[in-house]
Amino acid sequence: MKTAARLTLSHFVGGQMIEGRGDRFGDIYNPATGEVTKQVPLATTEEVRSAVAVAAEAFPNWSQTPPARRAQVLFRYRELLIEHMGELAEIVSSEHGKTLEDAQGSITRGLEVVEFACGISQLLKGEFTEGVSNGVDCWSVRQPLGVCAGITPFNFPAMVPMWMFPIALACGNTFVLKPSERDPSCSLRMAELLVEAGLPAGVLNVVNGDKEAVDALLFDPQVQAVSFVGSTTVGEYIYRTGCDHGKRVQALCGAKNHMVVMPDADLDQAIDAVMGAAYGSAGERCMAVSVMVAVGDEVADALIERLCPRLEALKVGPYTQSDAEMGPVVNPAAKARICGYIDRGVEEGAELVIDGRDISIRGFENGCFVGATVFDHVTPSMSIYTDEIFGPVLCVVRVNSYDSALQLVNDHEYGNGAAIFTRDGDAARNFSHRVRIGMVGINVPIPVPMAFHSFGGWKRSLFGDHYVHGPEGVRFYTRMKTITSRWPSGIRSGAVYNFKAGAER
Ligand code: NAD
Repeated sequence: MKTAARLTLSHFVGGQMIEGRGDRFGDIYNPATGEVTKQVPLATTEEVRSAVAVAAEAFPNWSQTPPARRAQVLFRYRELLIEHMGELAEIVSSEHGKTLEDAQGSITRGLEVVEFACGISQLLKGEFTEGVSNGVDCWSVRQPLGVCAGITPFNFPAMVPMWMFPIALACGNTFVLKPSERDPSCSLRMAELLVEAGLPAGVLNVVNGDKEAVDALLFDPQVQAVSFVGSTTVGEYIYRTGCDHGKRVQALCGAKNHMVVMPDADLDQAIDAVMGAAYGSAGERCMAVSVMVAVGDEVADALIERLCPRLEALKVGPYTQSDAEMGPVVNPAAKARICGYIDRGVEEGAELVIDGRDISIRGFENGCFVGATVFDHVTPSMSIYTDEIFGPVLCVVRVNSYDSALQLVNDHEYGNGAAIFTRDGDAARNFSHRVRIGMVGINVPIPVPMAFHSFGGWKRSLFGDHYVHGPEGVRFYTRMKTITSRWPSGIRSGAVYNFKAGAER
């Protein structure tokens, strides 16, 4: 059989695309057909070091560029992102598999971070106290760190990089992005557009690669801070290794998000919510609902009864099919892993109500499709409950009280998102106060904060002290300096040998 020529991607360093010099390549699939369509060069340590050196060289000028002028680049970038929205969404869908509408939605969420970054000057102003002592003033400023690095996952190839570099750049840093090797093309195109918007060469660089490239970033002394988004095992490694090498690290990791449905909830609203939250983007979202906790058997039975016809009607297909509601998963390995979990759920004794393993889409028989799947009577000891499956698989856990539901959520090792569906304000308030979770929804299934708030989880869903974007993002990408000065210089206080309080000086 004749194979179509495969496109080989580049890196983007110093304002231009450059060919990889190593001899290792990764495969990029068209998830809808299951075929390898592109090759991505996997950067060597040397190539990463060169990209970091380019970013370090660009830092003095960029950090000295007035914040308002940096913002002007981002304003122009915003316009270009809107102009190229269709093109970028197509790139995302063709490598990730998600529907075009979903891809556009994710780019819009990234665009909102760019919009937030346009106004960052406001947050860089610092604090000032006049006259802390006789002729003495004190002020604090936030300064950029230097070269920052971003390591991003496959599931949001546009949005997650945009959680990072717009904020880092607006604060005056330079950046090296290492996108997922499974769908890196969007990052390359976004970097090109940023240069078109007026970003000086070398301020944002994209190196493609795998563990070797990541380690090169973690070990490079010129890299000051690392933002990571991805799985918990890798995130914990990156956090520990980055910290050991003296870097500031934030690592946003895996999740198992619960949606608690109370007996008084509007069940139709809850079902609408879970359809999008569990099966949108084929469940490949860190904020996907993967566990529905039904409080009482009556609620569980009513939810399953409503859910089944909706799942049977769900339109699964490639992104090129305009009415598709759910696309394939990212590659054959992801499909095999998800189906393996469904096998295990059956072996462990959960009731497989709808099985998505054998789905076949006409014309796309070799595609990486997994149909919408739901398990009932799942218990906390089963691996389909403990592990993040990252596919279109929903587990229904039955509990008999609100307290047991809360306990269940709090006992899980992950703490990214959780939602409660109820009409009872007391229950909602109690839940939002007591739940050990970073982002909480009340009748909102995917409580992703807006760009001017910050995003992050608790427990093993985040390592580090800072969430991404919003004010927390600005804190992460800057450090504080506090200056105390005496003017006029002629005022003399004599030599002081003890530590007097300000008021006594
Ligand atoms: P992943 O951990 O496999 O990969 C993430 C990044 O780490 C990629 O750039 C990859 O090249 C790199 N990487 C992979 N293995 C590595 C290793 N051994 N050493 C060093 N670097 C390595 O994650 P993924 O499969 O691309 O993405 C899915 C995961 O991301 C899920 O767990 C999901 O929950 C998580 N995620 C979390 C958030 C969040 O905000 N908490 C958001 C999106 C995705």
